Amino acid sequence: MNIAVCVKQVPDTADIKWTEHNTIQREGVESVINPFDSYALETALRLKDKDSAVKITALTMGPLQAEEIIRKAISMGVDGGFVVSDRKFAGADTVATGRTLAIAIKTKIENAEIVLCGQFATDGDTAQTGPTISTNLGYALVTYVKEIENAENGYAIVKREVEDGVETLKVKLPAVLCMLKCDYEPRRPLINGFKLAQNAEIPFYSHEDIGIEPEKVGLKGSPTCVSKAFRPEQKTSGEIFENISTDEAVEKILEVLNG
Ligand code: FAD
Repeated sequence: MNIAVCVKQVPDTADIKWTEHNTIQREGVESVINPFDSYALETALRLKDKDSAVKITALTMGPLQAEEIIRKAISMGVDGGFVVSDRKFAGADTVATGRTLAIAIKTKIENAEIVLCGQFATDGDTAQTGPTISTNLGYALVTYVKEIENAENGYAIVKREVEDGVETLKVKLPAVLCMLKCDYEPRRPLINGFKLAQNAEIPFYSHEDIGIEPEKVGLKGSPTCVSKAFRPEQKTSGEIFENISTDEAVEKILEVLNG
């Protein structure tokens, strides 16, 4: 069974910086694997622990330095990975990102029966990329997944978090599964993992390599337009009036409400 794991490089949340245009500053900021994607990697590796025939490919769409997280995934035990990178991908919204990743999976991974994503990315945080990939591939979709109990004979048994508990679903493969934080922790790199990662060849694929038209990627392929970005106004702490009667308090509140 072939498994694709989508991993996104995000700024280390303890170290978020903003540009003067109110966008996230990515240059010169420490980047890490999106935490939910680390759980997706661990979940895929657990399936491989059970069945050595499972082959895991990690992929990311991003700038050249996104290669680092593919190497990190290889050091954890995945079989290989690639970066989808092209200047034309800049400015992609979730529609263009999901479409590009779906086409990369279709063209560069043979018969990916399971596509794992994180539920959210800690920077963009839309939770739209996984569902967009599933729509483009025509795969089943399960979100809020906590665990994959089993995957064989064309079905996966998955546990999914819902408001008042956990559902267990039997899903027909192929499917996109969006992973939450699991009850287990992502493993550390293997003893020989660093060496394997260092020596691994990481291919970079452009829009031409995956066969997607330039008008369907990046800003051109993005229907979303960010018309304004702003920081929410800092709220001041409330004022406390002490030792006044209820009537006086009502007066004060009305004064404030009426401006
Ligand atoms: P979510 O949907 O919350 O992520 C869920 C999961 O999807 C992740 O856990 C991961 O598994 C997978 N995933 C998401 N993104 C990737 C990826 N790139 N590679 C592999 N897996 C992934 N961002 C920029 O960095 N530069 C820009 O110039 C830029 N321009 C934008 C312009 C517009 C108009 C808009 C709306 C957004 C722009 N963005 C840009 C943000 C970009 O669209 C999102 O980062 C991207 O679409 C993923 O969405 P998300 O971060 O909400 O991820």
